[in-house]
Amino acid sequence: RAKEQGKNQYQFFNGEMDRIVLQKTIIETALHEAIEKKQFTLFYQPQFDGQTKELIGMEALIRWIHPEHGIISPAIFIPIAEETGQIISIGEWVIEEACRKMKKWSEQTGRSLRMSVNISPKQFLKENFVEHIYSVLQNTPLPPHQLDLEITEGVAVFNEQYTIDKLKQLKQLGVHISIDDFGTGYSSLSYLRKFPIDRLKIAKPFIDGITEEKEDVAVVKAIIVLAKNLKLRVIAEGVETLQQLDLLRSLQCDEIQGYVLGKPLPADVFEKTYMKNQLPNE
Ligand code: C2E
Ligand code: MG
Ligand code: MG
Ligand code: MG
Repeated sequence: RAKEQGKNQYQFFNGEMDRIVLQKTIIETALHEAIEKKQFTLFYQPQFDGQTKELIGMEALIRWIHPEHGIISPAIFIPIAEETGQIISIGEWVIEEACRKMKKWSEQTGRSLRMSVNISPKQFLKENFVEHIYSVLQNTPLPPHQLDLEITEGVAVFNEQYTIDKLKQLKQLGVHISIDDFGTGYSSLSYLRKFPIDRLKIAKPFIDGITEEKEDVAVVKAIIVLAKNLKLRVIAEGVETLQQLDLLRSLQCDEIQGYVLGKPLPADVFEKTYMKNQLPNE
């Protein structure tokens, strides 16, 4: 519907789902202010082991708390920030904040969970990206294996060799790499052999249909087998029902993320729900 209302206009929804349409330039200015005034916050969604149902980590998901419009979804502003280049400073803040939180929760619980952070193509392709990751890990400090970077297949189309080099550097640091929205990126599968990655995230649209459409089950089964043969972990995202969960578990899907097991939550609520103190006397 945004398209019907003009090319450079995007739809905004506030907390009460009231609709406003703003020019892209207005959003850009508003984003500029949001960066200055630190109007962003991170929500965290749990990720679980498919077999044991144990918590294995969480995905950081950005929210823009706008003083007038309420919580604005990243689906609306991330594509604009990517276009304007504002994703660089927003993205750096996300990595720093997510690492700080992971460190705090590790100390609090004595557990070594993994924090997943979404990385936009423009961010990944920026020349100092690896250096920034390195300095955040050093400064926090956070063990590199506790950080998972979710990249998309899109980084492969820009310059495959550049991407392979950067991924190798990241692997040398010791961070974990996941391919987000796997299967939706129109890229060839050849990169799977060449990219040093750890995990595939099966995109939600495939998961949506698995209890009704045999084609979707076929695709999901194939992705799981592909991942196993390539020695990659595989996680299903957007799992909403118990039927989907049972089916994925029977297909030996390694890990599960979705509303059926846990929604994205503000840090304090996530902490109260999942980061129960396991150390004595604290
Ligand atoms: P994504 O990385 O694929 O994240 C998963 C999205 O699915 C999240 O939407 C999450 O809230 C939602 N989700 C998880 N489980 C379920 C479910 O069971 N049902 C449904 N209907 N939805 C589920 P969200 O938080 O709105 O984020 C949308 C997208 O915005 C993300 O998709 C990601 O690509 C991007 N994004 C979010 N945070 C960041 C960020 O910090 N940096 C960058 N570059 N992109 C971000
Ligand atoms: Mg993601
Ligand atoms: Mg993503
Ligand atoms: Mg995804």
